[in-house]
Amino acid sequence: MKRAAVWLVFVAYFAWGCGDDGDGNSLSRPQITATPTATSTVQPTPSPTPQAAQHDHILLGSHHAGGGELMAHFDFAQGFAELTDQQCIGGQGDACAGGTIVYSGTSPAFETVGDEDAEEHLQPLLPGTRVRLEIVAIDAGVQVQFGGVVLDRAGQSVVLGDAPFHVHGTWQLVLSASVDPTHGSYAVTFRFVAEGSTYEPSSPYTLRLAVADDHHAAALASGG
Ligand SMILES: [Zn+2]
Repeated sequence: MKRAAVWLVFVAYFAWGCGDDGDGNSLSRPQITATPTATSTVQPTPSPTPQAAQHDHILLGSHHAGGGELMAHFDFAQGFAELTDQQCIGGQGDACAGGTIVYSGTSPAFETVGDEDAEEHLQPLLPGTRVRLEIVAIDAGVQVQFGGVVLDRAGQSVVLGDAPFHVHGTWQLVLSASVDPTHGSYAVTFRFVAEGSTYEPSSPYTLRLAVADDHHAAALASGG
């Protein structure tokens, strides 16, 4: 219970912190409309909006201060990358008939843990530690994009940043429009590596990708 509570605090803190970090993802987030009640004359303490709360982070640190394995904190058992957007390539109509659909989402992102949020086995990384995301296994159709780099094969990697950092990539699933993405199981397994440092590579972590239900309904409607 305590652990869950702490995690919720993390999510709330970082989700709020992301609201104005100017990292260019605001356009891809769903727009929400604020509707304060007429009787609300005092602004409450800022709290995450529902939209911000959906923006999770994989927190990165190390097993102990200054060394040990790289560690990632995220609920990989229950959590997943939710693909909230979709783009039709080369298809016709709402169903994207005959084409390919790219489902994508930006949550969860990656963030190094700070001093104030460190835990027993999630210590802040030494400043300047360069962390690389390395693909261990990846299902067909799954892609991980950071900047201009697209990873879709085991062994490929990309530099996330030099600690401390907070980066947003894109989780993608590329499928024929005739395939129902909710029927299959799609995942990517990765680990974190800090070359030239005292840190050892992390254990592998597997993240599932899931298409938001309502997004494929339109495509299926016309028999795709
Ligand atoms: Zn973020």
